[in-house]
Amino acid sequence: MGLAMLASFALALLALSGCDSSNDSTTNQSPAQTLIQRQPFFAMGTMVEVVTYGADKKTHTAATREIENTFTELAKTWQPWQKADAPHGKLARINQDLLAGRSSLSTEKLNRIMLEASELSQQSRGLFNPAIGQLVQTWGFDRSVDLPNTLPDPATIKALIDANHGPHLLRYTAHSISSLKPVALDYGAFLKGYAVDRAIDILRDYGIEGGLVEAGGDLRVLGSKDEQPWRIGIRNPRGSGVLASISMQPGEAMFTSGDYERYFEAEVDDLSKPLAPAADGTPRFAKTKQRFHHILDPRTGYPAMGTASVTIITDEGAKADAAATALFVAGPGKWEKVAVSMGIQYVLLVDTDGNAYLNPAMAERIKFETQPEGSLLLSAPLVAKVVPQVAPQVVPQAPE
Ligand code: AMP
Ligand code: MG
Repeated sequence: MGLAMLASFALALLALSGCDSSNDSTTNQSPAQTLIQRQPFFAMGTMVEVVTYGADKKTHTAATREIENTFTELAKTWQPWQKADAPHGKLARINQDLLAGRSSLSTEKLNRIMLEASELSQQSRGLFNPAIGQLVQTWGFDRSVDLPNTLPDPATIKALIDANHGPHLLRYTAHSISSLKPVALDYGAFLKGYAVDRAIDILRDYGIEGGLVEAGGDLRVLGSKDEQPWRIGIRNPRGSGVLASISMQPGEAMFTSGDYERYFEAEVDDLSKPLAPAADGTPRFAKTKQRFHHILDPRTGYPAMGTASVTIITDEGAKADAAATALFVAGPGKWEKVAVSMGIQYVLLVDTDGNAYLNPAMAERIKFETQPEGSLLLSAPLVAKVVPQVAPQVVPQAPE
């Protein structure tokens, strides 16, 4: 069966079976007919596509409109920084207050979402860190266009790292949020997942039983299609095309964090190629081009090294999104530990040398469409280590 593009703009999303373009028409279909309908819109800096299976056109359109409104509203609310030409979003105002050392008005709903993110941050051992807003801004990754081409001042990065910003600084009341230190929050590593979860809720509210919501290659499915699972492609982090494909179980979310999404290249010293020292004795090195991407290691303040992409499958978009970012930062050496502490069952990590790491449960369900450039490396199963119980010792009773 040939590969058929389900979402032409999203390389990562391919329908690999039973979904060619002849049965996705939205015209002249009776409501009773099972048909695939899809409707893209632009939100959160990416194309979003709502795909339904078996819904009538009116229901599909109404649900998609509500999903579009939800995405637009969430993007406005959670925009971390005030844009010159836009009204103040709620998080932008909170950040302004927290940076000025003031407590800020919030709502129970906003606080609930921020607490959910804090909980995920804790599970990730701080590698997903929504209190990273100032670092992201310092690097210039708070925007998707006009990225910088030089590195920020190392002293600024060091000062932000030394301040040890994390969600543990935050304090909530029913209607406010404050921080023990000036801090700026950025939910960019979590928000798309949260939005996709809300979109699935909306499809369910409309009585739709089969479909998926995809945003820039990240997605969550609802039900199945003709009792066949949705089959989805995972983008190759180097070059274009599909690295692997996977069948999704009803309700599952698949999110990928990649170093190809937002980055700039800059010339840096190649420490493996020393040159003759300068006249004043300063060591000199040949220059090399290095990629600086938008996923920052909260421990160093620099883009996480060694990972090209991480794909997570779990039963919730928000968790999958946060975990993809966290495991990207954890990298080839530490991802298993973080996956276990976040309760993630399926992981594929591709490192910058093209090696593909995956856990046995992922290996069982994934099909490589392209040979990975490097080796395939299977981890141990992702289960928490059981601490052996020490049998209680029987202390002999001393005679009375
Ligand atoms: P994602 O593409 O989901 O991995 O999210 C990346 C975005 O999240 C970046 O553009 C930043 O806004 C933000 N971010 C970068 N690094 C981190 C991190 N370690 N923890 C939390 N958010 C981050
Ligand atoms: Mg993420």
